[in-house]
Amino acid sequence: MFRALVVDRDTPPTLRDVDDDFLPKADVTIAIEYSSVNFKDGLALSQNGGGVVRTFPLVPGIDLVGTVEHSADPVFAVGERVILNGDGIGEKYFGGLAERARVRSDALVALPDGLTAERAAAIGTAGFTAMIAVLALERNGVVPGSGEILVTGAAGGVGSIAIALLAGRGYTVVASSGRAETEGAYLRGLGATTVIDRSEFSEAGKPLQKQRWAGAIDSVGSSTLANVLAQTSYGGTVVACGLAQGADLPTTVMPFILRSVTLTGANSVEAPAALRKQAWAALANELDGELLDSMTTTIGLSDVIATGAQILAGSIRGRTVVDVR
Ligand code: NDP
Repeated sequence: MFRALVVDRDTPPTLRDVDDDFLPKADVTIAIEYSSVNFKDGLALSQNGGGVVRTFPLVPGIDLVGTVEHSADPVFAVGERVILNGDGIGEKYFGGLAERARVRSDALVALPDGLTAERAAAIGTAGFTAMIAVLALERNGVVPGSGEILVTGAAGGVGSIAIALLAGRGYTVVASSGRAETEGAYLRGLGATTVIDRSEFSEAGKPLQKQRWAGAIDSVGSSTLANVLAQTSYGGTVVACGLAQGADLPTTVMPFILRSVTLTGANSVEAPAALRKQAWAALANELDGELLDSMTTTIGLSDVIATGAQILAGSIRGRTVVDVR
């Protein structure tokens, strides 16, 4: 028997003891050590799976780190430590908020040398998304020295790691946060040179505003993203990776046709294996372990439901690791 969080239709999520027959059949069985709580997990734990859960019952958790117990894929050996982010776990396949999982091997990544399992979970989907967003900026020619890079949703998981990664690569980072007063020191500690209040972006503004940003990583969407686009300098790139304010985008074509702004996206769930390996190698290499620890809180499986509600309320700072053992 092992413990698993279970989301079911029309009932609140529960922490249950289940056996192996509860797990669906799949290539690789993993003894999970750590998972994490992302915004999407908060949605999955809300009423009827919050639009994230596609099949009931389901074990939520879009991240897991653990040890291979059984493998039908020769690429992954028994005893090997692996990471899985996205690829449908915690949405349509059973996820990481349990002591055990059976998963497809397609998106598994070997735990990089030098990275502990706990820190890999602290990075999780949020850090992986932040890294693919940084790579997207660079693919579009935004380099250190291009100018200021704005990170919205700064005190959240994606935002916090994006600041640390950008600052580590030598970018000048401006953090936008609803918690500029209380978390200003935290955000500067991650590497932001300036912290601004997110209310500057919350309401609809003019289609073109004063040019300020060479690039931006936005986990907020809605009017915030529209204002960021309106303030992006000629030739700049904005990476949309989230919808904490809303999924709408009340913008015009002006930033694109008059300032050659590029709006691109970051999708962690369906990222191909090569991008996963590239991003994880870079994360292991670049992210300062102690800085990562300073933005991480560790909880147990029994604390996850309450934390899910807090992340939806926007009150979680940085990353939350779940020690499932
Ligand atoms: P967090 O809750 O940790 O961070 C979100 C942050 O957004 C909050 O901390 C807050 O930052 C800000 N925020 C919250 N509500 C609002 C609001 N109403 N208006 C403006 N800002 C707000 O979540 P994650 O970092 O885990 O995820 C961030 C977003 O990215 C989510 O929408 C998530 O679904 C998405 N995401 C997408 C991925 C992808 O593959 N594309 C992968 C991972 C996440 P502050 O207090 O500093 O203002």
